[in-house]
Amino acid sequence: MIDGYTRTCGLIGNPVEHTLSPVIHNMLAGMLSHNLVYVPFSVEEGKLEDAVKGAFALNLLGLNITVPYKSQVIPYLSGIDDLAEKIGAVNTLVRNSEGFMGYNTDMPGLYRAMCSEGIEIKGQDVILLGAGGAARAVAFLCASKGVNKVYLLNRSLEKACIVAEEVNRKAGRECIYPKALAEYKHLPEKSFLAIQATSVGLYPEIEKAVIEDEDFYRRIHTGYDLIYKPADTKFMQLVRKQGGRAFHGLKMLLYQGVIAYELWNDVSVSEEAALQVYEMLKEKMEIKESL
Ligand code: NAP
Repeated sequence: MIDGYTRTCGLIGNPVEHTLSPVIHNMLAGMLSHNLVYVPFSVEEGKLEDAVKGAFALNLLGLNITVPYKSQVIPYLSGIDDLAEKIGAVNTLVRNSEGFMGYNTDMPGLYRAMCSEGIEIKGQDVILLGAGGAARAVAFLCASKGVNKVYLLNRSLEKACIVAEEVNRKAGRECIYPKALAEYKHLPEKSFLAIQATSVGLYPEIEKAVIEDEDFYRRIHTGYDLIYKPADTKFMQLVRKQGGRAFHGLKMLLYQGVIAYELWNDVSVSEEAALQVYEMLKEKMEIKESL
């Protein structure tokens, strides 16, 4: 029950109406008997600084940050964690005495999700589709977890080159190779883990995949789509059609939330509790698959 001791966390973004994050955090608070509520805050363009200052003045415990503010929020923080600084994107703010400290839980969230599905990164040859904010975090994850090579394919080659140069430099090794999307036909004849980090195929444009050529999918043993709406994307269907395993991004969403919750409350959420929340997320998304 909300009373005088209730702590507030929330989500800043625009739009925020379709977010699943309140399900994650309010359910965890209930399960762990924490007196905490989590609410979405729609913040208009130009009001981000006011929103962050206001949240601090209102004694909010923490915030998630979503599109379009993950990079824009950085100047308004009292500090930024090393990983978030390297990635250049913050999705979690944690209150301290001077303001909010910025973290990135998308990347460790994806890693925890992949581990829980038994997907290895170490030693793999990876095709990464996209060079936006999420792809940048994936590229860092691959570089920091001992990937063999990442072919980073993007519609805009220039953006792919910028991300590759930056990640290679900060990781201290040359493992990300930028290419234009159309170059997919000239990749080596190897077996790849493919990570889909473009927004192509996202609801409502569910009949699209960033590469539609079925032949491309022959080389993919595992396809991981960061999209979770729909839960079965065209990319996933094309991977499966050629005999590969395919995963959607709902577990990444779950674990980025779990890690944020852990940071705000200085607790460790058990795998059992996380999977209970996952069941609820699947129910909300009307996903029928087993764990
Ligand atoms: P973003 O920064 O806007 O990047 C979008 C990417 O998609 C860019 O690489 C862009 O290529 C590419 N793209 C867009 N339209 C395209 C088209 N018609 N053809 C080819 N490429 C196209 O977005 P983001 O924040 O990185 O998010 C990417 C995806 O990840 C979204 O679908 C988002 O829902 C998902 N995501 C999931 C989670 C999770 O928890 N599961 C977390 C974060 C993001 P250009 O550079 O050429 O424009």
